[in-house]
Amino acid sequence: MIVKPRIRGFVCITAHPKGCEAKVRQEIEVAKAAAATQKGGGGPKKVLVIGSSTGYGLSTRVAAAFTHEAATLGIFYERPSINGKPASAGWYNSVAFEKAAHEAGLYARSINGDAFSDEIKAQTIETIKADLGQVDLVVYSLASPRRTDPKTGETYKSVLKPIGEPFTNRTLDTDKDEVSEVTIEPASQEEIDQTVKVMGGEDWELWMDALDEAGVLAPGAKSVAYSYIGPEITWPVYTHGTIGQAKRDLERAAAAITETHDCAAHVAVNKAVVTQASSAIPVVPLYISILFKVMKAKGTHEDCIEQMLRLLDERLYGDDLRLDAEGRIRVDDWEMAPEVQQAVADIWPEITSETLNAKSDYLGYQNNFLALFGFGLPGVDYDEDVEVELDLPSAGQGKRRVC
Ligand code: NAD
Repeated sequence: MIVKPRIRGFVCITAHPKGCEAKVRQEIEVAKAAAATQKGGGGPKKVLVIGSSTGYGLSTRVAAAFTHEAATLGIFYERPSINGKPASAGWYNSVAFEKAAHEAGLYARSINGDAFSDEIKAQTIETIKADLGQVDLVVYSLASPRRTDPKTGETYKSVLKPIGEPFTNRTLDTDKDEVSEVTIEPASQEEIDQTVKVMGGEDWELWMDALDEAGVLAPGAKSVAYSYIGPEITWPVYTHGTIGQAKRDLERAAAAITETHDCAAHVAVNKAVVTQASSAIPVVPLYISILFKVMKAKGTHEDCIEQMLRLLDERLYGDDLRLDAEGRIRVDDWEMAPEVQQAVADIWPEITSETLNAKSDYLGYQNNFLALFGFGLPGVDYDEDVEVELDLPSAGQGKRRVC
């Protein structure tokens, strides 16, 4: 079929298989180029990535595989093609990743299902035992609006709200290309607690407990989960809001995991990038559009892959983690540089619907958003009839179809 973007608010309900492959291959080229400058030897060897199909998780997987030649097992929750409709972007990304990894002679296998469940944890452990023995790096990169607790069966929902008082600021209506004002009412205690249940550290700890108990965590393994801090303008809705509480709980979990297991667990604070998760946060797309303009002008612009290369090469497996006062790895350092933040703050009050394109890189934001779903990639013929039903090739030695 001929696949065109169909955007509904902050999601695109279609994805282009060849475009997603082109985007994954672009990231792979960046990771391969980084391999040339590697001192070698010290990177991850067998990596479990929980949330590996899009955004930061996918780029971590690409960096581990194509810079460090690591074997990777990816866990995600994606929609395969049903009744001739296109699959989700994460599905096509994973198909493309496995294809490229296998071409390069690398182990790559995937499990599609709810990472919060006991069943997927058990299936993952079984796969590690059969194929890898143990993993030496566990990446926790889930972004989910809900979580069902495997013990109680209760489902919790996360919300993006301020705490204590309402928050009013400018936001970007990407449907209408308009800058408008948004007011978000504060969360109830129940909503705060539920957000921590979904996006906090409890499930990360359950994963690490299960892996260690099953003997599939290599001695001295590392683990990392991702967080965000960002500028003061977004603090009420992010860092000081419900999601910020969940991110603080990740820091608690990192310390608990390091304490309980022979594993160094870290929270890495990454920069703001366009992903399916970040495009859903009020105010953030407008901030990202301005940030991109400032960082591109300065020559410090990075996307997920460049961030994850720095995280693995320079920090987790480099000479110095360069932890902040709270014990976190900071690869948002270039975003948070005072001159960058000052430049963004200077532009912020001047942004209107009329000045959006002149004063921000809204075009770059839009291109980035479309590329998440495989649209707008060079070399892809979008008028071509393409096969949308793509299987995930069996990974590793096994012939099992993993989906
Ligand atoms: P994303 O939406 O691109 O990726 C989320 C991943 O989680 C996907 O692979 C998806 O399949 C998987 N997933 C979601 N629910 C699942 C479930 N129930 N079971 C299995 N897999 C599931 O998100 P992202 O922006 O890459 O976010 C990843 C992490 O990085 C989050 O912790 C986020 O807060 C953090 N982070 C994001 C940004 C940003 O600007 N996007 C910045 C800093 C930190």
